[in-house]
Order: sequence, then C-alpha cells, then structure tokens
Amino acid sequence: MRKIRDIKYFKSLSLKKIKEKVKEIKTQLPSEEHDAITFSKNFTLSLSNYCQNQCGYCFYNYKVPKMSGEGNVVLLDNDQMVNLIQKAIQYNCKEALIMSGERVDNFQEVRDELERRGCSEYIEFVKDICNYLLDFNLLPHINLGELTFEELKELKPYNASMGLMLESTSLRLFEKGGVHEFSPGKLPEKRIRHIKNAGKLKIPFTTGLLLGIGETFENRINDLALIKNIHEEYGHIQEVIIQNFVYKEGISYRPKKQIEIKQILKITGLAKIIFQNEISVQVPPNLIKGYENEFIKMGIDDFGGISPFSIDYINPEKSWPQIDYLKKICEQEGFKLQERLPIYDKFINKVGFCPENIKKRIDNII
Ligand code: SF4
Repeated sequence: MRKIRDIKYFKSLSLKKIKEKVKEIKTQLPSEEHDAITFSKNFTLSLSNYCQNQCGYCFYNYKVPKMSGEGNVVLLDNDQMVNLIQKAIQYNCKEALIMSGERVDNFQEVRDELERRGCSEYIEFVKDICNYLLDFNLLPHINLGELTFEELKELKPYNASMGLMLESTSLRLFEKGGVHEFSPGKLPEKRIRHIKNAGKLKIPFTTGLLLGIGETFENRINDLALIKNIHEEYGHIQEVIIQNFVYKEGISYRPKKQIEIKQILKITGLAKIIFQNEISVQVPPNLIKGYENEFIKMGIDDFGGISPFSIDYINPEKSWPQIDYLKKICEQEGFKLQERLPIYDKFINKVGFCPENIKKRIDNII
C-alpha cells in the first residue's frame, strides 16, 4: 500500500478502483469470515441528555428544542429503565448501549437527582446499572463522552467494550461559526487521550468519523491514519464507524449542501483500504438506506448495533431496518448477515482485554 499520507493518491482513486481493492482485501480473511457482515442486537439506555458541549449538529443535547415530544432527561427514571431491560430480554438483545451527554455531573440538576437516588457520583450510578444489566446477561457498552483514565479504569470490569467517536480533529471546527465552537470536550487532544487511555487499559474500543460537519477530505484521511496509528500502538480498536451528518430542524448547523453519498462511499472504501482486515469498518444502516448494496461493495464489515425496539437517539427520525431486510441485501451481494457480541470474538481471548465478569456472562449467552 502507498504511504498513508499520500492524500493525492487516495483522492485519485475512483469508486470502481476502490471496489476492486476492497474485494481483494476481503478475500484475505479466513473463509468463515470473508463472506460475513456482522451486527449486534442491542438496545439503548439514554441516561441523561445534559451535556457540557453544544455541538452545532447535535439534536440530542438538552438545549435543542425537540419536536418529537421526547422531553429532556435529567437522569433516566428507574421504572423506565426496568421496562426497557425487560423488553431487551424479551427480544433477546445481547448488548446494552449506555449513552449520555458529556460530563452530565457538571449540572446541579443531575447531581441533585444522583443524591436523591443515593449515588455519590455519576460513575457509581453507571457502574450500578452495568452490574444490574450483567445479572441478565446483557453486555454493557458505554459511550458517555470524554472520561479520565481513572474513570475508564473503574468502568472496565463492567463493560464488554466502550466507545467514543473521534469525529474529526479539524481545528477549523472550533473557530467562530464552526460546529465545535462551544464544545470544549471535542478538542482533539482530549479525544485522542481518551482513545489512547482505553488502549493502555486494554479496553476493546469503538471509534469513528463524523462526516459532513465542515471537515475536508484531507482531514478525513489524516484522521483514519491517526486511528490506525493508535491501534498499531495499543491493538484495542475493534471497529471504526463511518457516520454521516444528517440535518434536522432545531439544530444550529446548516450546511449549504449535505455531504453526498459518493463521498461517504469513498471514505468508507478508503477506510477499508487503510485498516485492511485489522479493524472492522462499520456504517449505521439507518443512515444509508437505499444504498446498502453500494456500501457492501465498498467493503464494510459491520452494521453496528441494531435495536428491535429502541430509537437512534442521535438521529431519531431514522428508524432501524428490519434484520430480514438487511439479510436479504447481504445475500444479494454474496454475504451472510451474522450476529455478533459487543466485544468481537478476537478480543474475548486476547490477554487482558475481556474482564472475567464479562467472560462469565458470555459463557452464559453462548
Ligand atoms: S458532545 Fe455529544 S451530546 Fe454533547 S452536544 Fe456534542 S454531540 Fe451532543
């Protein structure tokens, strides 16, 4: 492969050429893997949509007026949580995606609610929930925004994997009018530190790019190269999400033109070329509806978490596809759709990556 910094080379590749290359890469996988595209049957516990940041593209944040009738959540109600968990058991979900805004405990309302529920700290609250989920063999995967090394360490024994989007390291996004102007938690050094700390702690990890928020082609390639370099150092990144921004009423970011599908396809294929078969490339199927076949041809390995009943809190207007629908599309392209756990198989037995607590639940599930 050419040098990763050779942006011109990547730019010059046509979609046709990329398709040929990714096909070649896929065939290097062991036979039981090269014709499989995976997904994880999950559900979401959105703990709080309070957040210290105000990203221009965010619809989730408590400050964004919602049309859907979904109110703001200081801290997810216990009864609601139990209901969701019961549903998850009925539907045979394996993964619990636990998400919230960043540094929710910066807010007095959240701290008061934590105190009312007898929790001294937010991390304690999250740990309790993870523990509760594990009792039902539901494997937690948290994404709570940027965390410290100590917080990650504290949460590791209760999580099958964790996630934090790199999104983009473009500093232009922090300038006046940029989507990260009011998002101190999105500073690249903080995101990179978090991802590296997860590596030091041997936490199976998900990260990814958010496309179409004001970054350039060069930024995208450099960010993919950055993720690859971090993975080469720590070996903990199991998947990279290529996610596209979708405009909605109520948010402050209004690009003149939304990112085109051709550009998303190109970055997806280039991600596959850069990561080869070392890191899985994932696209959220609810954001690429109608183009699934094209993305499969671009070498995707995974569709990520698909929920039979909970919404995508980031893009609530984009419903999850039916598993049977995706299965059919995969078959059209010569692939089979395969369910996976939130921790990839190769990390379950990798020394130090899968806590005993989690291994025990995996044995129960299997
Ligand atoms: S950090 Fe996440 S939740 Fe907070 S404003 Fe940004 S996108 Fe929204």
